[in-house]
Amino acid sequence: MWFIRDGCGIACAVVTWMLVFYADFVVLLVMLVPSRDYVYSVINGTLFNTLAFLALASHFRAMLTDPGAVPKGNATKEFIESLQLKPGQVVYKCPKCCSIKPDRAHHCSVCKRCIRKMDHHCPWVNNCVGENNQKYFVLFTMYIALISLHALIMVGFHFLYCFEEDWTKCSSFSPPTTVILLILLCFEALLFLIFTSVMFGTQVHSICTDETGIERLKNQKPTWEKISGWEGMKVAFGGAFSLGWFNPFSNLDCESSAPAEAVETAPASEILTQEEIEQFLSRDVAIQMLHE
Ligand SMILES: [Zn+2]
Ligand SMILES: [Zn+2]
Repeated sequence: MWFIRDGCGIACAVVTWMLVFYADFVVLLVMLVPSRDYVYSVINGTLFNTLAFLALASHFRAMLTDPGAVPKGNATKEFIESLQLKPGQVVYKCPKCCSIKPDRAHHCSVCKRCIRKMDHHCPWVNNCVGENNQKYFVLFTMYIALISLHALIMVGFHFLYCFEEDWTKCSSFSPPTTVILLILLCFEALLFLIFTSVMFGTQVHSICTDETGIERLKNQKPTWEKISGWEGMKVAFGGAFSLGWFNPFSNLDCESSAPAEAVETAPASEILTQEEIEQFLSRDVAIQMLHE
């Protein structure tokens, strides 16, 4: 199973669950259970808990799914030979994890691995966001934004309703405790609504323009054939539009597992010689297979 042993990331992930549990506690025990409107409580309680469950499930999937790690230490003579490289082809070797980097892969210093289509390392999900777990990360940001919005709306209604009524009938807690719990929930929900909706928008934009966060930062010229818009969404969410897109339990069918695709730069005819492979392995970062 994929799990990153990073103290800071594990702490951030635990804080995330705690914040969701806190919101659930306030929504249920401060607002919905003491309410005398049974239908309102059941509908909102069910909706909030379903969304919170989907948010946590997406969080677990994002955290425990291999984001697209390149096999460690695959820069061996046998592997290079199996690639059947031709003079003029360019392949990259990662000096840190000693692997042959496919196009668009980046090394993450927290995961200590090269990750395919790495977008960024997110401490909140204690994992890199890459080719194979981007869907779960997008769902996580979406469900957190939705529960935040839902909580804010409920707090709004609660204040409206309770200002007219007697405060003691409105909550099973004392009025000062109720107000403090509700204000903290408001603050948390507002903060996370802003943060996760910006993240959600950025991620969907990345998918639709087929450009990862790292590539955007580096202003990298695309060496890959761009799949944009709706097609990009289909690739990231695993198939044609369906309810499965919103389901954190459904797997991606089209996970690519291509090892390392070399970029061809010159017409080539010959396959590399043993000495050239050895020369390549002894060098450090980027190597262009050039024939004199
Ligand atoms: Zn690496
Ligand atoms: Zn990482």
